[in-house]
Amino acid sequence: MFSVLITLGNSFYATYKVQRDLLIGNTLEANRVYAAKLAEMTDVFLKSAQDQLAYSAGQLGSKMADDTALMSEAQRLHRQTNSFNSVVIVNKDAVIVATSPHTLEVKGLTLTSPRARQSLEAQKALITDPFVSPAGNYLISISHPIIAKDGRYLGYIAGTIYLQEENILNRILGTHYYHDGSYIYVADRNKTLIYHPDKQRIGQKISNNTAINEVLAGTEYALSMINSQGIDMLAGFAPITKSSWGVIAQRPKSSTLEGLDGHITAVFIKSIPVVLFTLAGIWLSAIFISRPLWQLAKGARLMDKKEVQQDISGIHSWYFEAAQLKRAILKGMGLLNDRISKLHNDSHTDAMTGLFNRRGMQQVLDSYLEERRPFAIITLDIDHFKRVNDTHGHDIGDKVIQALAGLMQSHARKEDALCRSGGEEFMIFLPDTGLATAFDVAERLRLQVAESEISTAGSITISLGIAHWPGSSVVINEVLKQADKALYRAKQQGRNRSITAEQT
Ligand code: GH3
Ligand code: MG
Ligand code: MG
Repeated sequence: MFSVLITLGNSFYATYKVQRDLLIGNTLEANRVYAAKLAEMTDVFLKSAQDQLAYSAGQLGSKMADDTALMSEAQRLHRQTNSFNSVVIVNKDAVIVATSPHTLEVKGLTLTSPRARQSLEAQKALITDPFVSPAGNYLISISHPIIAKDGRYLGYIAGTIYLQEENILNRILGTHYYHDGSYIYVADRNKTLIYHPDKQRIGQKISNNTAINEVLAGTEYALSMINSQGIDMLAGFAPITKSSWGVIAQRPKSSTLEGLDGHITAVFIKSIPVVLFTLAGIWLSAIFISRPLWQLAKGARLMDKKEVQQDISGIHSWYFEAAQLKRAILKGMGLLNDRISKLHNDSHTDAMTGLFNRRGMQQVLDSYLEERRPFAIITLDIDHFKRVNDTHGHDIGDKVIQALAGLMQSHARKEDALCRSGGEEFMIFLPDTGLATAFDVAERLRLQVAESEISTAGSITISLGIAHWPGSSVVINEVLKQADKALYRAKQQGRNRSITAEQT
């Protein structure tokens, strides 16, 4: 689940990054193309304005003395083209000789400021830097010299653009004003703003603006930059070659990226159901995969409990690895149980005879007591066994003990428990048997032993003592003692006989 969440987070982040870069890239490119288009349109306008002025200047070459002709040409140019806020004709002495409109009332004035005399100084077709005209307008002028037939310089005719009023630049540049925070502005070759949607800023000189610096160096490009107001902007720009101006189209980065967060949030919300579904799937799969494993682990931890093997068999191990593990655990448990039961049997039986040893005997007694099951007990001892050992050797003595054990087994019922309680001493437990019956059993065994030939040792005899629980005593140890006592009595009375506790 962690991996899925990490992957998901990463893909959201990657999507966000890619979208962001795409938006920025697209905006930059759009601004560059837009700036280039506007620069081209402005260029076309300037070219046509200069052509018109050149035509008028040609007409006026021979009419500089004709006041009416000058006035009417100024008026025609002004009204016909609608390109200029005003048209002025200035003679070579810097005197304004004609204007349109008449309302300017600057006719006859002499231009004095160096800025106003730019065209006179140049004596050629010129687009001036901005300056304040005698009528008080902040303007640029596009001028063409008037030359006499003999080549003398007679003055110039100029069309003006009032930068802070409705003008042709506004019409070209301002019509596509966006409402998304993007805008365009134009700087002249001295980095002075000559067009800006905020009229207050027209005439300001901007020195620390990368886009202006680049565009005035003649570059057409787009870049992300901090503008003079400290706002992160995506700016595209293109130079206007005719006038050495630059057009910059820009949009705040923040408004470009505005929709992106919402967009990514929408993607996130749309993907939530699938994500939740996937996580739930993972969760359930994990449960199904781990369930048999922890069930097996739990089973393995409780291995010594009897029912566990059955519990483990019942675990639904539905996939290969769990099934293998289950098989291995069951096999291991089987082996372990076999080993344990073998060890258990070994520790409860006598190796030489295969009968119970004292520990086995104790267990038999415990089970009778637990079940409150009455029983008879016969203790028996080989008569004069020392002699057997002395005469035939210890090995033959062992054989005799084993032979006697064999006789006891062939004599016993299934439910009887046979036990070798010491060297050549034995006990027989007869459940649900009375003292008299036990006596009969003892006698039968005694006679049988006496009659049997035991390999090289010949025949032996045994003495037996018989007691009953709870007949002889309710205390179990007392019953054992009474049986021993009876055996002792049998020995005393000459051996090869059976004596009951009652007879002592
Ligand atoms: P009693 O009639 O009074 O029982 O005489 P006994 O000679 O049998 O005397 P007792 O029962 O006191 O002696 C038991 C002898 O059995 C002592 C020991 O040497 C011998 N014996 C005990 N355990 C073993 C055994 O495992 N193998 C052999 N070969 N002899 C054993
Ligand atoms: Mg003995
Ligand atoms: Mg003996």
